[in-house]
Amino acid sequence: RVLSRHFSQTPLAMAPISKETDFLVIGGGSGGLASARAASARYGAKAMVIEGKRLGGTCVNVGCVPKKVTYNAAAIAETIHQAKDYGFSVQETAPFDWATFKKKRDAYVARLNGIYERNLANDKVEYVHGWARLISRNQVEVTLDDGTSTVVSAKKILIAVGGQSTVPPSIPGAEFGTDSDGFFDIETLPRRVALVGAGYIAVEFAGMFNALGVETHLFIRYDTFLRQFDPMIQEGVTKEYERLGVHLHKRSELTRVDKDPATGKLTLRYKQRGADAEGKEEEAVVADVDHLIWAVGRTPLTAGLGLEAAGVATDAKGYIKVDEYQNTSVDNIYAVGDVTGRVELTPVAIAAGRRLAARLYGPEQFRTAKLDYENIPSVVFSHPEVGSIGLTEPQAIEKYGKDQVKVYKTSFTAMYYAMMDPKDKGPTAYKLVCVGPEEKVVGLHILGLGSGEILQGFGVAVKMGATKADFDNCVAIHPTSAEELVTLR
Ligand code: FAD
Ligand code: NDP
Repeated sequence: RVLSRHFSQTPLAMAPISKETDFLVIGGGSGGLASARAASARYGAKAMVIEGKRLGGTCVNVGCVPKKVTYNAAAIAETIHQAKDYGFSVQETAPFDWATFKKKRDAYVARLNGIYERNLANDKVEYVHGWARLISRNQVEVTLDDGTSTVVSAKKILIAVGGQSTVPPSIPGAEFGTDSDGFFDIETLPRRVALVGAGYIAVEFAGMFNALGVETHLFIRYDTFLRQFDPMIQEGVTKEYERLGVHLHKRSELTRVDKDPATGKLTLRYKQRGADAEGKEEEAVVADVDHLIWAVGRTPLTAGLGLEAAGVATDAKGYIKVDEYQNTSVDNIYAVGDVTGRVELTPVAIAAGRRLAARLYGPEQFRTAKLDYENIPSVVFSHPEVGSIGLTEPQAIEKYGKDQVKVYKTSFTAMYYAMMDPKDKGPTAYKLVCVGPEEKVVGLHILGLGSGEILQGFGVAVKMGATKADFDNCVAIHPTSAEELVTLR
């Protein structure tokens, strides 16, 4: 069998795999690809990427990209619903054609896989399709698609293997559920789905299903979700999901899942604590569920990677320990991205990977290059979108003391909703967390239409150390929602 190296579309002229390289990267996802390409194309290092699945990693194949395309579909469904309030008579003659949409989404991702492969070739990065395992601090054993293995020696090794969904709690029938990877395999529009989890993935997926007309049940352990975000966001989005009709099962825990062998439908049993101080537990059931999706966090893909053979240290959860320069405990081995357990976002993995390549192979001025993990903006593509950078209000109070923190906030109805029935009006809420007499903005939290696009620019300002007065000095753009951020009183 021909090895799937270089262009899989034209796998004819196959050079044998190099037995030696300067920079061997394990994992062709966001962080690994960015680092290998920068090392080779910008700084002339001989680089190799080993990828066991599909180029692009989680983000391109089962993460950001197909998720955002699905989010766009959900946003269009909302717009179609809202269009009548603007005078359009839009006729929905059939439900959303999920099957056609999925085919097109898959084709888009496959196109991206090809583009990533061509980019590697253009940047002269050697691409090997196979699974890598460290056998010493300088050697990696690669198992190829045909089952044969080969050993490659490398001066420096980057581990960028990412993560996978955390195994769900061990309850009878948990295996009848799927995870975020399985979400992207769903072939037809479900009628009823259930999700367990309270983070980015559960909230994004629940919002998309609901907007596409699927009866959506979300099981969370506490009273709100997105609990790592500012209380304004937690409470605002949780309330909005209830208003939008998501069946939110608060303070609840699944206890058993049964699958009807004839229909494939699931029955979920769960217990729910009362909201009062007594917290009395009650048992309940949701039946006829088409898909159950576990979204209870992610775990690093370090098992079986040979870290012990090379002496690479991990923490108790299996994340590779790195210092601020992405150095592991072994001096020629580095790690970036989700496998390090620090801010699991694509642009973070890319930025850390590029800076590492610059530090290792770039000119003298990059010798101390590293990613600053402070003030990283992030957005949840919920309904509505939310965005956040810096400290939440409670974090700022804990860090600086209550008397040093001044909070400016507003909530209003965006002009977009002016033409709509009250029942169709969504919320908007903004908060600036400022510190000290100069009122430096240490936290910015936004909830509402367009938050994903709004946050990037404000992120630059916060990263530069802007104060409330700097915000006020910027003339508003009218009429927008974002203008409220420069006119807060
Ligand atoms: P990955 O992209 O996971 O790449 C690791 C690669 O290594 C994989 O391709 C894997 O197959 C390969 N690999 C693993 N072990 C081996 C081995 N032994 N040998 C060879 N290859 C190996 N982030 C955002 O910024 N915005 C979003 O909107 C967003 N949405 C997301 C939605 C979902 C559903 C999920 C799951 C994640 C989302 N993320 C998002 C997070 C983002 O996808 C990750 O932070 C990012 O992909 C991490 O990049 P990485 O390079 O560390 O790992
Ligand atoms: P998260 O870590 O964001 O959230 C998982 C949450 O699930 C926990 O915070 C917890 O919330 C809840 N949970 C944990 N265990 C259980 C359990 N046994 N039963 C029920 N609930 C449980 O993980 P995700 O999987 O959602 O996402 C992983 C990462 O991927 C994110 O942190 C983010 O970095 C990235 N991502 C980014 C996106 C973006 O940028 N838009 C989109 C998707 C993912 P609680 O304690 O409240 O119960």
